[in-house]
Amino acid sequence: MNYVSTRGAAPVLGFEAAMLAGLARDGGLYVPEVVPVMSHAEIAALAGVSYEEAAYRVMRPFLGEAFEQAEFRNLIGRAYEGFGHAARAPLVQLGPNHFLMELFHGPTLAFKDFAMQLIGQLFQASLARSGRRITVVGATSGDTGSAAIEAFRGLNNVDVFILYPHGRVSEVQRRQMTTPKEDNVHALALHGTFDDCQARVKDMFNDFAFRDAVGLAGVNSINWARVLAQVVYYFTAAVSLGAPHRKVSFTVPTGNFGDIFAGYIARGMGLPIDKLVIATNQNDILYRALTTGAYAPDGVKPSISPSMDIQVSSNFERALYDAYGRDGSAVAQLMGELALGGFAISQGALEQLQQTFASGRASEAETEFTIERIYYATGVLICPHTAVGVKVAEEHLGAVPMVTLATAHPAKFPDAVAAAVGVQPALPQRMADLFDRPERVTEVPNDLGAIETLIRERIAR
Ligand SMILES: *Cc1c(COP(=O)(O)O)cnc(C)c1O
Repeated sequence: MNYVSTRGAAPVLGFEAAMLAGLARDGGLYVPEVVPVMSHAEIAALAGVSYEEAAYRVMRPFLGEAFEQAEFRNLIGRAYEGFGHAARAPLVQLGPNHFLMELFHGPTLAFKDFAMQLIGQLFQASLARSGRRITVVGATSGDTGSAAIEAFRGLNNVDVFILYPHGRVSEVQRRQMTTPKEDNVHALALHGTFDDCQARVKDMFNDFAFRDAVGLAGVNSINWARVLAQVVYYFTAAVSLGAPHRKVSFTVPTGNFGDIFAGYIARGMGLPIDKLVIATNQNDILYRALTTGAYAPDGVKPSISPSMDIQVSSNFERALYDAYGRDGSAVAQLMGELALGGFAISQGALEQLQQTFASGRASEAETEFTIERIYYATGVLICPHTAVGVKVAEEHLGAVPMVTLATAHPAKFPDAVAAAVGVQPALPQRMADLFDRPERVTEVPNDLGAIETLIRERIAR
């Protein structure tokens, strides 16, 4: 299985190399050269199998020769054994023909665990074979960092450094990053904003001497292996609701477009998905792009669903690549225009995107009211990201079953939930002692040299 860059000018790679590279060298994102198709019978045969078995069957065709079959099964098993629900991604019913897929039973209570736990295992297996050591560095506004730390804690051959903005993440998010005891985990509280964290990480990747010396690796949401891991739960949910004999629709609370792009891949593989609905909060660049054709960032407005507060939705580039007939130079040109302020999607590409994706948005008041409404109607507490999805999904209900992705546990965002319903959501039993565990964190200045020095010292131990 070959992977090509969305900008058409980077080397074609196999699965393992594309996973370890993250970003392509021409600045593009890796996508499969051809998306493998599952037959009607193969999809029907997923009914009743475990999540792990479904994961194996759905992902296997994308790997080529990268991992032995038995080894891959093993790694999938280890990735999901720490989840707090036997179904891994269970469905609950919210209303007539409307279902929630709970993606928050992983160790950090957000859907990012599905991908991060698996790539932790894949990286480990790959590095053990080559004897290489790497340093994973990431910036986070909360969820990605904790998921990465959980995935890499205690693994050989990997050190993980996560930069988060000091004083600007929720207490649950901070504690999830600062309480792991393993000495390959390094939580760094940067004196600055999330944008500063992201800029310093980018600087490190552009400092080639440093990058090579420490074996820098990226696990942000543009990593193809992360997208692939998320394809699986579209299959398990749809098959539970009658696919391939019956169509299913999905609504996805969207930020960087990684999660919904996985749904797009599932559809490309033959899963009968009717609508794929993009749900955005007040940071609605994708909604505006899909309705007007103008992709124009206009500054992040902080919201109560912070994991969706984005200016530029990185994985959207993958959808554009297909909408432009897989013309890498056309995509490269759009991204050049984006760097100067924005671009207009061509009429043909826009029509193609509109045939594939619907979209909607929720204001802050609508998000809060949805948390309240759903709680009083069903007794179910939802996180603010999920509430954005539910509000938008309700505008698209019909004869086809609708699944809204519940991307985080309500207890991860207790303040927003308590403000809406006056009820403080409880942490699951298995992490009820989170507030008693000792914290370990290093404060760092917003200074590249200081951060690089610290990383070099830590990995030399
Ligand atoms: C990351 C995240 C999102 C957005 O997902 P993308 O793949 O970036 O679109 C939504 N909700 C939660 C809780 C998240 O952590």
